[in-house]
Amino acid sequence: MTKTILLKNRPKGRPTTSDFEFVTEDNDPKISDGELLLETTYVSVDPYLRGRMSDAKSYVPPFELNKPIQSGVIAKVVASKNSKFNEGDFVSGMLDWKTKQVSNGEGLLKVDGNKAPLSAYLGILGMTGMTAYLGLNEIGKPKAGETLVVSGAAGAVGSVVGQIGKILGLRVIGVAGTDEKIEMLKSKFGFDAGINYNTTKDIKGAIAEAAPNGVDIYFDNVGGPISDALLFNINKFARIVICGAISVYNETELPKSISVQPFLVKNSALMQGFIVSNYSDKFPEAMKHLSGWLSEEKLTYSETIVDGFDNIPNAFIDLFDGKNKGKMIVKI
Ligand code: NAP
Repeated sequence: MTKTILLKNRPKGRPTTSDFEFVTEDNDPKISDGELLLETTYVSVDPYLRGRMSDAKSYVPPFELNKPIQSGVIAKVVASKNSKFNEGDFVSGMLDWKTKQVSNGEGLLKVDGNKAPLSAYLGILGMTGMTAYLGLNEIGKPKAGETLVVSGAAGAVGSVVGQIGKILGLRVIGVAGTDEKIEMLKSKFGFDAGINYNTTKDIKGAIAEAAPNGVDIYFDNVGGPISDALLFNINKFARIVICGAISVYNETELPKSISVQPFLVKNSALMQGFIVSNYSDKFPEAMKHLSGWLSEEKLTYSETIVDGFDNIPNAFIDLFDGKNKGKMIVKI
């Protein structure tokens, strides 16, 4: 039996479970020469998938209606007619939300569960880890002694950005949505300070207090009012890495953010959008550092693992309520 999740409707605002459709087929897919049969083990749910559910031009094409949704997946090779892969191998790749599927092997990477837990290849050793490392280094250009603020700090990308900041000798301040997350930022990930944006009335003042020397780098995962407040605290030559804007992904009207230009001009500051796939030539370098720091225990990570294929849509929707600490992953 094979289960598949299709995009049924383009969400209007916040996605709901009725935007997804489950389809069940009785027979296992058959493979031909050169192909593999894959059984899904872990599925990554990510905020950027929300963008692909809309019919809007972006850096990746939208998902098609009534077709399977795709994301980062770890799968086991259960049958192979492709000489590059053996039965029993585990692979990672952009694959369909299906319990079983056929692949020709293109775009798949073998992953080794003896070197790291398989789920880590969807997080710290996967796309979100690469995003943290490359976004911070390539655009943030950190220098020891500087101050870094990270929003979405307790999530998959943010928690790694903050830890890399500490490894590189920065003062690191995280913004996240609960006191429990703020406590985790400080005790588990070594952040110097944290701000709970849900309970802090004056975020601009709270940033000023946590960053007495001003902010040199802002790693922005959320956009919206948190990022507006940050602009009042930037230093001359500050670098603002626009990695994501989850606070506006479900907006149906144009957001009413403040004008960034005066802040950038006054401070000779840089603001640049970041897309991890633009830096694929640097993935080996990022992987080398991330896996090295992990094995030296300079870096750690959190995962929120949800059980069961049927819970993929809910796990995805829960990202918008901050139900995850670290990487949100579904175990099949
Ligand atoms: P994540 O941070 O693990 O999960 C999303 C988090 O966003 C939630 O846990 C929640 O935490 C926070 N959030 C939700 N609604 C919010 C709101 N209205 N205001 C403030 N925070 C809100 O997700 P991720 O995979 O690490 O991704 C983080 C960001 O990076 C996303 O914007 C994503 O699109 C972006 N990203 C970009 C790239 C790229 O190449 N550009 C690659 C990967 C990810 P709280 O409890 O703190 O609210």
